[in-house]
Amino acid sequence: MTPKRDEVDQTRRLREQLAVLRREAEHNESILRRAQAREIRLLQAGSMVALFNEIVDGLRESHGLEAVTLVLLDPDNEIRHLAMGEKFDPEGRPEVMFVDSLIGMAPQFATLYRSWLGPYIGADHRLLFPAVDELASLAMLPLRRKDRLLGSLNMGSVDDRRFTRHHGTDFLDHLANVTAVCLENAINRARLFRSGITDVLTGWNNRRYLQSRLAEELARAQRMDTPLACLLIDVDHFKRVNDRYGHLAGDEVLREIADRVEGEVRASDVAARYGGEEFALLLPETRARDAVGLADRIRQAVSRTPILLDGGARVAATVSIGISSVAPPAGVIDLKSLGEQLIAEADVQLYRAKNSGRDSVCWEGG
Ligand code: GH3
Ligand code: MG
Ligand code: MG
Repeated sequence: MTPKRDEVDQTRRLREQLAVLRREAEHNESILRRAQAREIRLLQAGSMVALFNEIVDGLRESHGLEAVTLVLLDPDNEIRHLAMGEKFDPEGRPEVMFVDSLIGMAPQFATLYRSWLGPYIGADHRLLFPAVDELASLAMLPLRRKDRLLGSLNMGSVDDRRFTRHHGTDFLDHLANVTAVCLENAINRARLFRSGITDVLTGWNNRRYLQSRLAEELARAQRMDTPLACLLIDVDHFKRVNDRYGHLAGDEVLREIADRVEGEVRASDVAARYGGEEFALLLPETRARDAVGLADRIRQAVSRTPILLDGGARVAATVSIGISSVAPPAGVIDLKSLGEQLIAEADVQLYRAKNSGRDSVCWEGG
């Protein structure tokens, strides 16, 4: 081979290498462009429903995946209700799941700080992809905002080399960050929109309203030198209702229980949905022991007849009730901590009622 020929060969090889590099660069650029376009669509989603669609359908299509699901940590069922307030249909969108706790969803959640990539194992990952069972690899992206885990974004592929432990996760971590920010914004927007004092599910006033009324009622009780009683009402074993009949049926049960409780309270009482399946009442001019009669009527109104669901099932529900009361002494005192004590004591009594077998009423001193 002449030196000339050698040079020609070398030039050709260099050209080929350059062409490969250019193709790779173009390929990477197109991936980046697509990823950016996708992020912009996520950021522009105007509602929770639009965002869910962009996450589930948009990411599945643009990444060529078999399945994308979104698991949201929602122990108070607040996010689901906010979404339903925006006409979200949970049954039509099984890819979006609302759960009480993440640990049960997949073993990896226990230590999920960065994206987890690896082989799909039915026993471990079935719950993450309820509608698809032919997957070979998956990525679980923790959705975090500050120190809070909002849930996870899960991607499944039939290709066992698509997500492996050897892949870098920077790109996916970034996508998870953007998704988490978008989710938090959408949730906060929906919260703001509903930030009034009304609970979406029951139409009752919410906890915020109770907090502000509590301050007013304490001040009034102090002025009038009268006691103020507080009832905390918690549905017994409500998780079982959800587990057995589903969350929508659970909602129906909650609404009916709220109606039954409402049927017993007086116009002067302050009623609020205090938490997920908890209601609170403030009874002016009432001592704890004088509230027992009302509490027992409420308990019976719930347990007397089973609740008939739209689907025809009958659900026997019961509630436990804790009662406390306070008579604010005259003079300057910290009404805020007094209010906190009143609620805390009702909670102690509620705990006693639960421990005594549920479907019961316990009160301070009784
Ligand atoms: P306990 O008798 O000890 O109170 O048992 P529990 O199952 O009622 O209590 P736990 O706190 O374990 O579970 C409460 C459940 O209530 C979990 C949560 O998903 C459910 N929940 C809270 N809010 C709602 C809601 O608005 N709708 C539905 N369907 N479920 C709700
Ligand atoms: Mg509870
Ligand atoms: Mg309960």
